[in-house]
Amino acid sequence: MLIVMKPQATEEHVRGVCRKIESMGFRPHPMPGAQRTAIGITGNPGPLEPAEFESLPGVADAIPVSKPYKLVSREIKNEDSLIHVKPSEGTGPGFTFGGRELGIIAGPCAIESREQAFAAAQRVKKAGARLFRGGAFKPRTSPYSFQGMGEEGLKILAEVRREFGLLIVTETIDPENCDLVERYADVLQIGARNMQNFSLLKRVGRSSRPVLLKRGMSATLDEFLMAAEYVLAEGNYNVILCERGVRTFADHSRNTLDLSVIPAVKRLSHLPIIVDPSHGTGKRDRVTPLSRAAVAVGADGLIVEVHPQPDAAVSDGYQSLYPDQFDLLMEEVTAIAGVLGRTTAHASHKAQETPPASYAHPQ
Ligand code: PEP
Ligand code: MN
Repeated sequence: MLIVMKPQATEEHVRGVCRKIESMGFRPHPMPGAQRTAIGITGNPGPLEPAEFESLPGVADAIPVSKPYKLVSREIKNEDSLIHVKPSEGTGPGFTFGGRELGIIAGPCAIESREQAFAAAQRVKKAGARLFRGGAFKPRTSPYSFQGMGEEGLKILAEVRREFGLLIVTETIDPENCDLVERYADVLQIGARNMQNFSLLKRVGRSSRPVLLKRGMSATLDEFLMAAEYVLAEGNYNVILCERGVRTFADHSRNTLDLSVIPAVKRLSHLPIIVDPSHGTGKRDRVTPLSRAAVAVGADGLIVEVHPQPDAAVSDGYQSLYPDQFDLLMEEVTAIAGVLGRTTAHASHKAQETPPASYAHPQ
């Protein structure tokens, strides 16, 4: 059930409807929009009677929601959601996903040392990334592979934030681990292998940090949106979706990057969606072409693996870009973004670097 308030409804009217929903033992989710507020209801085991709400002050309509997911759906909120990321400490710059500027997240697969993280951060910042990625806890296929530096890695990430003003995106792998990771991260990443780890989804749903939710490697669109619904249903509406490739019979790449899911998500959901061309292809030479395509198809950003020495990386070196390659990626992606009326921080960096013609060529 979705309660649509009248455009002139007051905050007290909204509170009244919320109280009514709570008195029935359910949870209200007020979603303010540009024209009017809508209030979603979760926790009800079956359909509700519209008449229960229609007569309340300020209510325009009470309509059943046809989709299995409610809060992530455009039925409850038609406008695109803007997801604001604030630095978890200090007063550095924040970033908003879903706006005109593409959200570019870049950095190594895993944090390996302070030197490695700083070398990567310095280069990706200069190229126009706003957020820095790097796993301190790695969910690896083999229990014998490098599992990440743990809290020591998180401390390095916090130093990167202070030193470079980059926001930190890092993975949390289980509900207990989340207590530690959320002390350091600005965005909590849920990996593909955990997309249906429902206790973890509920845990991050109670966090104050935005969540980057990666699509499971065999997840349908409905399963992907339902995973996001778990997070919103707990009260955290700040979810950024991420397409990172799915398993298919194709064996020319690590995964098959399903770019057609971008317009499909945009049609159904108000949440922003970004693309991971690194895990999506698994091969360095595919990352820039697929990044260009992702932006062209309407993605709200990219998450890209960049390593100062990919050949020496402890994980995912073969899909990590050299910093010079990332510079070129940003150049090209920024050009494509411009065609669509969007931009990246690369464009503003360049504008600052290139002096006006009269200075460059004094008469
Ligand atoms: C990662 O981003 O490093 C990662 C492990 O990605 P995924 O969960 O998409 O495999
Ligand atoms: Mn990786």
